Amino acid sequence: MADKIPKKPVGRPLETNKSNTVRSILFTAILICFGIYVVANMNNTGIQKTEVPISEVIQRANDPEGNIAKITVIGNNLEITLKDKDQPTETSRKDGSGTLYDQGLVNYCDGMEGEELIKCQETYPVIEYKEDVNAWGIVFDIMLTVLPIIAIVIFFSWMMRQANAANNQSMSFGKSRARLYGPDKKKVTFKDVAGNESAKQDLTEIVDFLKNPKKYEKLGAKIPRGVLLAGDPGTGKTLMARAVAGEADVPFFSISGSEFAEMFVGVGASRVRDLFSKAKKNAPSIIFIDEIDAVAHKRDARGGAGREDEQTLNQILVEMDGFDNDSGVIVMAATNRVDMLDKALLRPGRFDRHVNVTLPERKDRLEILKVHFKGKPVEEDVDLEALAKKTAGSSGADLSNIANEAAITAAREGHKAISNKDLTEAFERVAIGPERKSKVLNEKEKKITAYHEAGHAVVGHVLPDSDPVHKVTIIPRGATGGVTWFLPPEDRSYKNIFELKDILARAMGGRVAEKLIFGKDAITTGASSDLKNVAGLAKSMIIEEGMGEETRNLVFPDEATGYYTITTGKPYSEKTAELIDLEIKKLSDEAAKRAEEVLKANKGILDKLAEELLKHETLEEAELEPILKSAKLPTTAKLH
Ligand code: ADP
Ligand code: MG
Ligand code: ZN
Repeated sequence: MADKIPKKPVGRPLETNKSNTVRSILFTAILICFGIYVVANMNNTGIQKTEVPISEVIQRANDPEGNIAKITVIGNNLEITLKDKDQPTETSRKDGSGTLYDQGLVNYCDGMEGEELIKCQETYPVIEYKEDVNAWGIVFDIMLTVLPIIAIVIFFSWMMRQANAANNQSMSFGKSRARLYGPDKKKVTFKDVAGNESAKQDLTEIVDFLKNPKKYEKLGAKIPRGVLLAGDPGTGKTLMARAVAGEADVPFFSISGSEFAEMFVGVGASRVRDLFSKAKKNAPSIIFIDEIDAVAHKRDARGGAGREDEQTLNQILVEMDGFDNDSGVIVMAATNRVDMLDKALLRPGRFDRHVNVTLPERKDRLEILKVHFKGKPVEEDVDLEALAKKTAGSSGADLSNIANEAAITAAREGHKAISNKDLTEAFERVAIGPERKSKVLNEKEKKITAYHEAGHAVVGHVLPDSDPVHKVTIIPRGATGGVTWFLPPEDRSYKNIFELKDILARAMGGRVAEKLIFGKDAITTGASSDLKNVAGLAKSMIIEEGMGEETRNLVFPDEATGYYTITTGKPYSEKTAELIDLEIKKLSDEAAKRAEEVLKANKGILDKLAEELLKHETLEEAELEPILKSAKLPTTAKLH
């Protein structure tokens, strides 16, 4: 899911300034053009001239007594200079019929030189041809020269504006535009962050370190350097980071990864350098890089990061590696996409602390709503608990949005306080609006999801070689409707065939439970990722691990590693391919059958678990234990 598009920090006054500049440049340009036009026309009209017909000009030109010293032909006009300088200059216009030569104007002196030429010119006029340059031609010429310059000036001033708007400091391209939330700004503390207790607990340690660094240094404790906040958009990561700064009462330098994307080449890295040096000067302090995935996405992902991003990322790494243990600066970063991050960022000494910020559960949603309704006048009938109940899947940002919408609705309706009706209207606008429709489950979907997840949990719990169920939730997350977590009791490199078959069966448990409760017709799309997992695991069991019945101990290299038989183009024969498909199908059929046996034998427990899930949405190990403990393994599902 895409995060909100960060707004550029371009304020209104800057916008006005910008259009002012453009306007004054345009105005100047128009003035210049007008001036040129006037001057050009003055040449034509300013001096008194008599116009004579062309026929007269030709006649006089051919006459040694004609008093013409020179004829200048400019396009369609003739300018006649007289031998008698006291006479006003004459002009004439070509009449358009043929060339002047056709009309009888002869250049008597053509081809002459020296003495002979001078003598000829005393008698006959000199005829000179010039390019046609009329007034508009000049204007046009000048415009051609001037316009690009104007364009360049406009472009540069626009660029300056952009840089200024970005910087709020003219021309300091390399300076960090990190915002400082010092002690003077309104402080955010953990109180402002509702729910997310475990994340807060993790971060309390960071706060303590920032407050009492000596305590840790004395004991030789390695101080955490980088803390990565990971979680869905709107879950309060940015808020959480500010709260850490507020709790510790230290300066907070924040910059967003997406801002780097707008920067000029080479600026990203120098911004990072500047940011870190500012933070070090103000230590103890916090650097917060929001939306770090914007610069630190995997270098090989989708054609690789741009060079600019790579430089920025490298600079971040260099700065973090260069920290002394006692620098007193903690770097926090937030991302919606840990999976997209360059692995280099996650190495020890860099962002090696991870804090998950999760979507709020029901009781946390109530807390968040309380935070955002604090200070807003509400009617007695306002039922925040009911709202918390029906907003499964909403983030903190969504809830704060609902609170704000409710206030707006109440104001628009002219209410003195927010009523429950205002609240419902706001909820419907925010949550059931087209964008979030898929995120908020209706009652029926919720019920299907509850049975689906309960199915995974019961099957996983009952089968002897499956890992214990750790947590079940029906809070949707990303594309999934709910999640059932299984915790492997210890790290193991090998799994045996029984464990793998139990994993297949419990993965099938979701779809099988849906079918059992809602009938064959109620098969939903919610199980597609389970089925993909089953197909993937079953395939690797057969072709990589040699676990097929008929093909036991045989492996089948794939296209990447194997040889090819000439007839099939695969690394094995057509018959073997069929056998492999059959073996894979056998595994998934067996898994579905075992899941069904388990769920049929434990129908009461399945119902009970689904019911509890509908009530609480999330059940932890301790809450699951009493429900699941009486579940039994039917002999039909036994493998050994
Ligand atoms: P993220 O950075 O994870 O995308 P933000 O920190 O920007 O989310 O959250 C956006 C807004 O949502 C916050 O400013 C706050 O008003 C509200 N919000 C989110 N989570 C919480 C929470 N746990 N408690 C209170 N308000 C929250
Ligand atoms: Mg954020
Ligand atoms: Zn499932």
